[in-house]
Amino acid sequence: MSRRNFLKNSSVAAAGLISAPLIASCKTETETNTAASEKTNPIRPIAICTWNFENATAKAWEVLKVGGSSLDAVQQGAMIEEADVNNQTVGVGGRPDRDGNVTLDACIMDKDGNCGAVLAIQNIASPVSVARKVMEDTPHVMLAGKGAEKFAYEKGFEKVDLLTEKSKQEWIEWKKTSEYKPIINIENHDTIGILAIDKDGDISGACTTSGMGYKYAGRVGDSPIIGAGLFVDNEIGAATATGVGEEVVRTVGSFLIVELMRQGKSPQEACEEGVKRIMAKNEGRNDFQIGFIAINKKGETGGYCIQPGFTYRTYSEDGHVNNPTESFIKA
Ligand code: ASP
Repeated sequence: MSRRNFLKNSSVAAAGLISAPLIASCKTETETNTAASEKTNPIRPIAICTWNFENATAKAWEVLKVGGSSLDAVQQGAMIEEADVNNQTVGVGGRPDRDGNVTLDACIMDKDGNCGAVLAIQNIASPVSVARKVMEDTPHVMLAGKGAEKFAYEKGFEKVDLLTEKSKQEWIEWKKTSEYKPIINIENHDTIGILAIDKDGDISGACTTSGMGYKYAGRVGDSPIIGAGLFVDNEIGAATATGVGEEVVRTVGSFLIVELMRQGKSPQEACEEGVKRIMAKNEGRNDFQIGFIAINKKGETGGYCIQPGFTYRTYSEDGHVNNPTESFIKA
């Protein structure tokens, strides 16, 4: 899978860091001060997402660059991947549960702490859009299963067959050798988590997934759980997760990362700490994957993963960047 390719360009980044002080020393005091204040100015607008979902951040950027809200940006960015039949980890074309049904999880959270989620929803192409309706049009935060699907139809969403031929054939193959037994691995799941800051400095996030491939029917992971798969605090920053949802739920991962940033850690440091806490509870295991990305109010970003190969995407004035991340690999 291309998004698992770890782009080894950290040497380029390191070279940039080494040369920076040399350049600054040649400048006048005013120039140096200006450069310093520019550095501390918040980076905004900006969108970031898990993995290499460049179409998602590009869409979010389209919304942000014309002054759109971070909420619209994350929703529309997530919708791009939900609609992509070639992405088998989210939306239409997502891998089914072990009974052959595609069930989707998603949530969204805005600058005011409003949030909405749908759990194990079927036959709906854009669960993140239903989650936004839950947030805006109901007194609730979460709707699950048949109730969520019924609510979506009431809101005008169409019934769609989410199981593509490709995902169906792979499921049939899986059944031949699996003994119908869901397993934890790093290959048959992923999630798009997307975070954005708009021109006003307001932060929103969204998270959407088809969850673990061939999971038990009714299984729900971290992705639609506020605090686990996604958390936004407009004063501090936001975080979102991908990987084995059970572990992220156990540690309330995204909330933890935002709280670590509140205590002064950078997004990078906070993501590293979140991953290390999970590893500390899973001594000796290397069969699973957890990745976090985070952004703080200044627009600084970070990402970290248990397994190598994790990247995240940013899109800001500086352009579209694929950010390979460090990984926690236990010796
Ligand atoms: N976090 C998702 C879940 O557990 C899957 C993933 O991101 O890989 O449902």
